[in-house]
Amino acid sequence: MTPRYACKVTPKPELFENEELSMETSALVEDFKRYYGVYLAQDKGSASGHYLFHALALTIRDRLFSRMKQTKHAYAASQCKHAYYLSMEFLMGRAMGNAALNLNLNKNIAEAMHKLGIDFEELVQQEHDAGLGNGGLGRLAACFIDSCATLQLPVTGYGIRYEYGMFQQGINNGRQIEMPDHWLRDGNPWELERPEFTQRVKFGGHTEYQRNLDGSLSVIWVNTNDVLAVPYDIPVPGYQNGTVNKLRLWKSAATDEFNLEDFNAGSYTEAVAAKNEAENISMVLYPNDASENGKELRLRQQYFLASASLQDILDYWITAHGNDFSDFANKNCFQLNDTHPTVAVAELMRLLMDEHQLDWESAWQITSNTMAYTNHTLLPEALERWPVNLFSRLLPRILEIIYEINARFLSEVASHWPGDKERLARLSIIEEGHQQQVRMAHLAIVGSFSVNGVAALHSELLKKGLFSDFYALWPEKFNNKTNGVTQRRWMAWCNPALSSLISDKIGDAWLTDLTQLRQLEPLATDPAFQAQWHAAKRANKQRLSALVEEACGVQFNPDALFDIQVKRIHEYKRQLLNILHVIHLYDRIKRGDTQDMVKRCVLFGGKAAPGYAMAKDIIKLINNVANVVNNDLDVGDMLKVVFLPNYQVSAMEVICPAADLSEQISTAGKEASGTGNMKFMMNGAITIGTLDGANIEILEEVGDENFFLFGLTEQEVNDMRHHYQPREIIAADNDLMRVVNLLESGHFNQFEPGCFDNVINAFTSPHDPWMTVADFRSYIDAQAQVDIAYHDKKRWLTMSILNSANSGKFSTDRTMTEYNQDIWKLPQINPSDFASS
Ligand SMILES: *Cc1c(COP(=O)(O)O)cnc(C)c1O
Repeated sequence: MTPRYACKVTPKPELFENEELSMETSALVEDFKRYYGVYLAQDKGSASGHYLFHALALTIRDRLFSRMKQTKHAYAASQCKHAYYLSMEFLMGRAMGNAALNLNLNKNIAEAMHKLGIDFEELVQQEHDAGLGNGGLGRLAACFIDSCATLQLPVTGYGIRYEYGMFQQGINNGRQIEMPDHWLRDGNPWELERPEFTQRVKFGGHTEYQRNLDGSLSVIWVNTNDVLAVPYDIPVPGYQNGTVNKLRLWKSAATDEFNLEDFNAGSYTEAVAAKNEAENISMVLYPNDASENGKELRLRQQYFLASASLQDILDYWITAHGNDFSDFANKNCFQLNDTHPTVAVAELMRLLMDEHQLDWESAWQITSNTMAYTNHTLLPEALERWPVNLFSRLLPRILEIIYEINARFLSEVASHWPGDKERLARLSIIEEGHQQQVRMAHLAIVGSFSVNGVAALHSELLKKGLFSDFYALWPEKFNNKTNGVTQRRWMAWCNPALSSLISDKIGDAWLTDLTQLRQLEPLATDPAFQAQWHAAKRANKQRLSALVEEACGVQFNPDALFDIQVKRIHEYKRQLLNILHVIHLYDRIKRGDTQDMVKRCVLFGGKAAPGYAMAKDIIKLINNVANVVNNDLDVGDMLKVVFLPNYQVSAMEVICPAADLSEQISTAGKEASGTGNMKFMMNGAITIGTLDGANIEILEEVGDENFFLFGLTEQEVNDMRHHYQPREIIAADNDLMRVVNLLESGHFNQFEPGCFDNVINAFTSPHDPWMTVADFRSYIDAQAQVDIAYHDKKRWLTMSILNSANSGKFSTDRTMTEYNQDIWKLPQINPSDFASS
């Protein structure tokens, strides 16, 4: 690329002196006033929250970027190994509160704002969520990079700077409506554009062979339609340790080249307008969670991320090492967040061979020793496959390389299992058939030295089921890394009431070592501590009640049991089972059977993929049931039900501290891990759950007296499938029969006949993959145990405290430590050891 940003001046060293910015309240006041009055040019006529928020964000940002530079210098000076987390999603949420906490600025900022008559908490609410992800997978990436910075690990995140993030969800007449999320409209003060690191990404064209001077052949990929990738850097602060890592997000931009035919034909404006196609690549996040829909633009996004990121990393390598790649695999590692960025395997081969003249063997040595793959799902509909003809049109050179990887791989398979044609076909990266497809998971496994699942059960099921052939071939590649969440955001920031209580008792070491919470165990039955614990929980329940009242117009009683299920709406997560229980409670109240029943407030939240009709019907059902229940005078405040619209990170920050009961009720064997379950546990909610994903490990940590277990096991689910007769189960269970009768009689859709037929048909079908009816009785019985436990306030508080006390395993600090020990093998680098002069 022409050195567009090169410049002939040579500044004096004093320009680069990195003066430490003061963290004192007075300095914050000064900076804030300067940003507000000078940089943003505001005066007393214009006190809008927007400018106040930006002035404070810029004040904080200065302190982040100065540490980010120091961290970068330390990594460069130490010449350490570096890992790159490649992910199509980073569900970051809001940044301000987290930055203030991690820079230890909370108190001084609140003071500085108070001096100016501004409420810090109010300003925090001004920030728009960075919703660059669908759900668990994207939020995991955000928690991972937080923990890496806290552990002082040299890890950089790479993703896409979508112009439109996850859609905003509204509810109209009980149905989901989607609205675009133009989150950048008011500017993003946390990012820094780095146009000088722009990369060029190729699409289309064809390949040609070229004879080199030494007689060897090389491939050139020509006649391409190129797209520019412009990086934006976002600081990722560690917890009060001087480290600020980097999240680099790519935005697509058109090249300056014209379509000369159009241009010469006089269509200047048409030629410029045609550039839209390039700009479209980073326009919008695909809103499908755990399902793929094979759209061309999605494959463009994946290659765009992989190619831009790898070129960036190779450029950085070459700056220090020239064209010597002999040590590259010792100093670099790429973690692929699901198969989404897996085209990186072939792209790294292409860059090393076509751009840097390595031979196949050397390039493969490097690639297969630097790539590591994380699988996130066992659902077949989520396994990515791309049509070969789409690949050959969009990425012809990449497809050639995939074919060659496959040919060499299949010959290894053939020598391992001579004559086993079926196994060859099962393992092939290319799926044969009516339309040939590239199996991205196979490419990921073949190209990686590590393959991990995200909870113990999930990793076992991968080895036994989906990837059993690969496991037989390469058992050493397979490992488990149970997910986690960061306790900085999910306790310290979002639950100050509980956090200060905990720190008062055991100190604040738990912020970077969550196993410290175990010190709370002896306090679990202490009446004084229980009273304080209860007061914190109750205040959090009041905070959530205010949100519910404002959004739904329904009053939650803070003394009732808060029963919460928030997560993407998906049949496997079984929001349907939960609403069947709600209908059962309603039925019991109506027939006067309220013995042992506690007052309950049931909250649902979550987005449905816009094309997922069944998930949208389930939202409609929840809303219709809520409507009937909340307006029935017989029910009163025994039972309240709401669907809180637009579930997102900032909503979860209010929800999880207020939960009593955490609903984790997926069909066993379907939820890879779950991370919502961990946020709830940390904040003292008790789980009602199946033996699925990380629930199993939660149960192991907390013990079965402190967990409401129900439902079939994964094995039992699969055994029952062959003879599953939901109608017989319904006929044999009077409570369930009454629930189904209410639904079938149209009790919840009096003026909308037939509107739940699809839902009813689905869960009463012998082919229902999610086996909802099979778990009904066991779920209802477990819920009755919940009521009994909640009646006993002391018992409940003990359980609540013990859940929090035993949640230490579920910190991403533990997860990242394991990734590092087993996969990345990075040193911890403290920037202050490399302080630049
Ligand atoms: C934690 C979280 C998730 C993941 O929830 P699961 O219950 O694990 O599916 C999804 N979305 C948001 C906004 C979250 O904070």
